[in-house]
This record gives sequence, C-alpha cells and structure tokens, in this order.
Amino acid sequence: MSADDFASILSRWRKITDAATPSPWKVEAKHGRDIADEAWSEVRIKAPDGSDIASTYISHLLENYNADEDEELIVTARTAMPRLLAAVEAALKPHHPTIRRQGWPPTCNYDNRRWPCPEVKAITTALTGKETGDE
Ligand SMILES: [Zn+2]
Repeated sequence: MSADDFASILSRWRKITDAATPSPWKVEAKHGRDIADEAWSEVRIKAPDGSDIASTYISHLLENYNADEDEELIVTARTAMPRLLAAVEAALKPHHPTIRRQGWPPTCNYDNRRWPCPEVKAITTALTGKETGDE
C-alpha cells in the first residue's frame, strides 16, 4: 500500500464521517422474551434531535448476544471516528517524503528517516492492516 492509497482511504473515511448525521448518537433499546420464551431485541439508533438513524429487530437471539456492547460501539464510534481521524491527520501532517539527494531513496522531511518513517509506517499499518511499502 502506498502513501497515496492510504491518503485516499483517510479522505474517504473523512467524507463518510463528515456526511453522516452529527453526533452524539443515542440508543433506545428494548429486550424481552416472547410467549415461546425466545429472546428478542429492538434497538434504535437516534440522532441528537431524536429522529431515527437506524433500527433493528432481532428475534430468536442467542444467549450470548452482545446487544448492549454493540449498541455502545455504534454510538461511541460516531463520536470517536472524527476525533480519531483528526488525531491521525495531525500526527501524519508533518511527515512527507522528500528526495534529499538524486539517486538516494526518499526520506521523511520531518525526521530525516527513510520513507516511510517508523511513525508513518506504524500509523498506516495499524489503520489499514497492511504494511506500507517503501516507495
Ligand atoms: Zn516521519
């Protein structure tokens, strides 16, 4: 994966995040058992103005269904995603590949290490699950 590929992924995540309904999101959930003693769950993800963003109704739930944890992840992700993107963008901002001498491999203009420098490599690998290749 090149730095350009990673930049396009970050840009895509930024567009998706910015276009979504603003945070904070809330959860309204009901859980119960029907007359056959089968577990059910109804979950609504709510916008700050109270309108529905998404809803699910699941019946015949498995006993180990993680409804509360999954609801928490969805609403937390809406708040965390823009903050995490801002942190990643700020951390990556000073790092750019530069050619200091003709015929030499590029180095990072910020820390003067071979490109991609360890910071860029660690961030891009963590976010994409793929190692950033040398360019
Ligand atoms: Zn660097």
